[in-house]
Amino acid sequence: MKLAYVGLPCQLQALRKLQLFSREIGQDWAGNVSLTVGLFCRENWAYSCLRALVEDDYGIKLSEVEKFDIKKGKMLLYRSGEVIQEIPLPETKPYVRVGCEVCLDFSAELADLSVGAVGSPPKYSTVIVRTKRGMELLRKAERQGYVEVKHISEVKPGTKLVLKLTKEKRDENLAEAERRERAGYAARHISTMGEQEPAKLVAEAKNRSFADLEAHVIDAGMCVSCGACVAVASEQLEMVDERPRLKEGADGRVEKAYLACPRTSMPVMLMAERLFRGEDVKSDSLGKYIDIFAVRATEKAALKRYQDGGAVTALLLCALNAGDVDGAIVAKRDQNWRPIAAFAESEEELRESGGTLYCYVTNLPLLREVASR
Ligand SMILES: Cc1cc2nc3c(=O)[nH]c(=O)nc-3n(C[C@H](O)[C@H](O)[C@H](O)COP(=O)(O)OP(=O)(O)OC[C@H]3O[C@@H](n4cnc5c(N)ncnc54)[C@H](O)[C@@H]3O)c2cc1C
Repeated sequence: MKLAYVGLPCQLQALRKLQLFSREIGQDWAGNVSLTVGLFCRENWAYSCLRALVEDDYGIKLSEVEKFDIKKGKMLLYRSGEVIQEIPLPETKPYVRVGCEVCLDFSAELADLSVGAVGSPPKYSTVIVRTKRGMELLRKAERQGYVEVKHISEVKPGTKLVLKLTKEKRDENLAEAERRERAGYAARHISTMGEQEPAKLVAEAKNRSFADLEAHVIDAGMCVSCGACVAVASEQLEMVDERPRLKEGADGRVEKAYLACPRTSMPVMLMAERLFRGEDVKSDSLGKYIDIFAVRATEKAALKRYQDGGAVTALLLCALNAGDVDGAIVAKRDQNWRPIAAFAESEEELRESGGTLYCYVTNLPLLREVASR
């Protein structure tokens, strides 16, 4: 099975780690992902926190919100195409997931294609093409009429803003990681970014128990709820309220889960080396990439439901119809904006999954289930 995977920067890191250590973990299902789309991300909110912010603080029922967006320092809530509430971002900060505050990746540097709003005009998405595979898909989608493409240098505001947000996130979160380190909560995923010896990380994961995962990641406020640990050790672990928990009766020896976790270690250099081997890429503070474009879907009627330019959905539709992938792991929601990880294998399911959920969607356990079919 060939799968596409849409995820946030931390989810891409988790996926790449699963691919890097598939032999040591003894599971190769992550290798079925042949196309990755990463979303730009400054931060996100746990569902319960988003609900508390919108329903308790602002008295608006989530079921009455049609779309969320973040623009110019505000979270915007829409109904019938109109903004019904603006929430200044500083007011949302206490609700941000603590695990996001030590993440250094804004633009999903380990994806084939990274997509966000900043950098492009309204109704366009900014697409950073990082790999040959990503470039082939973008060009195919353009040729076949799924998308219109402009070079980022032809539009305003351009990459300046993407670079600014990338730097801001990195600087602020590095400072937070240092603060935590001084308080005794080591950010292992940051200190291992330059690690070149995979064997060292495998050895460090040896004989680890769930108590180690709790101490180093979950209780230390580092967990991002990606579910990589649950995906590789579902007989031992489960997600409860977005936190990994030991199942009743499990023995707690979670060596594979400890190795899979993107917060116990994150050898970004090794992962990037593997991803970009043989690629002709440039490298700057946006990571490695081939080029950057402003892209919008040509399907006008559908644009309304997509978040920005609809580039993600249009590119996935092209990949599906061309037979490049059999389906995609995406995010959906119920009527109260509760996030649901979903497998979309038809045009209709892909279109339904368009739009942004600003809360976290644990999707790696679903990826394992689908990829193992
Ligand atoms: C939590 C979060 C924070 C973001 N922060 C920024 C930011 O600071 N700056 C910026 O420029 N862009 C940010 N984005 C990206 C932006 O909101 C759009 O997703 C992106 O521009 C793509 O728009 P589109 O119209 O091309 O996508 P669409 O065609 O609408 O498709 C969106 C795709 O993303 C998937 N998706 C939606 N929500 C999630 C989720 N929570 N987890 C995994 N997949 C999801 C959908 O299932 C769909 O496949 C963020 C996205 C998220 C989810």
